[in-house]
Amino acid sequence: MDYVALPKIELHAHLTGSISRKALHEVWLRKKKNGETDLEDPLVIMPEGKHDYNLETTYIYGLLTDEESVRYTATSVLTDFLNDGVCYLELRTTPRGTPLLTAEAYVSVLLSTIATFELENPQLHTRLILSVDRRHTPTMAASTLALALAHSHEGVVGLDLCGDPTAKPGGAVAAFTPVFLEAKKKGLGITVHFAEAEASGSKEELDVLLGWQPDRLGHVIWEDEASKEEIARRELCLELCLSCNVQAGMVRGGFEGHHFGAWKDIQGPKISLGTDDVGVFGSPLSNEYRLVAEHFGFDREAICGLARQGIEGIFGGEIEKDRLQSIMWE
Ligand SMILES: [Zn+2]
Repeated sequence: MDYVALPKIELHAHLTGSISRKALHEVWLRKKKNGETDLEDPLVIMPEGKHDYNLETTYIYGLLTDEESVRYTATSVLTDFLNDGVCYLELRTTPRGTPLLTAEAYVSVLLSTIATFELENPQLHTRLILSVDRRHTPTMAASTLALALAHSHEGVVGLDLCGDPTAKPGGAVAAFTPVFLEAKKKGLGITVHFAEAEASGSKEELDVLLGWQPDRLGHVIWEDEASKEEIARRELCLELCLSCNVQAGMVRGGFEGHHFGAWKDIQGPKISLGTDDVGVFGSPLSNEYRLVAEHFGFDREAICGLARQGIEGIFGGEIEKDRLQSIMWE
């Protein structure tokens, strides 16, 4: 089966983590030539296959500081997803200002890059989700929400909770409750990183998160039985990221031990495979489908059925769902 040709929906991809090492290298080359960076060549410091969260953060923050680098890397990410056969993409990002680019300008640059790309490549439709980082203050979260609402008519479709699972433990994420309830009220889609690690899998936290009435949940690894039942009862869409979880050691037992195997047989929830950080883990979405076929014995029909499960979970609206229905049932 040709997994690249299979039309696919990607709902869990972090923009900066999706930038290829090569694209980062090219931004670095330009900055080096102009005397704008002291960093070493990212291809040498972070060769493909080597993961180091702190290094990656240093490079992203050190290189994506101006409009040109944001446009260049975002276009490269969109090109990579398009070439992998993705027809609908929701990219998430935490708006962050730099001395050369305010958070507001960052979001505007991304939206205009997406619009330009879509004119030339109408087969891929891309929407933006803004992320609240767990380390943020409620005030920062409120300004992320304000940005999302200000740009909701231009392609920002949702709000996400992401970041270090050890920050705000034991239900302290409740500090963000007013922001997420307001986002929901204003019609934004809600997705959260849910029970991603043991530290963020407490019953207190999961009750807070489920209280936000999220539409989708990312990862869903450490939840208790009661939360599992509630997720099934609500028929939520689950964004499951196999290679990321296996490579980062977030699950035991390799691919066969991944909780995709348990969720696939539970009635109610819809599963959407995601790459999380394809620039880091190096496994494009087509390969995630190949891995499911290989490790869970999915045949062609089952793979096509799985790819379609994400349609109902998208934040892009009914017209977009109709477009995807027609493409994915061809
Ligand atoms: Zn994620």
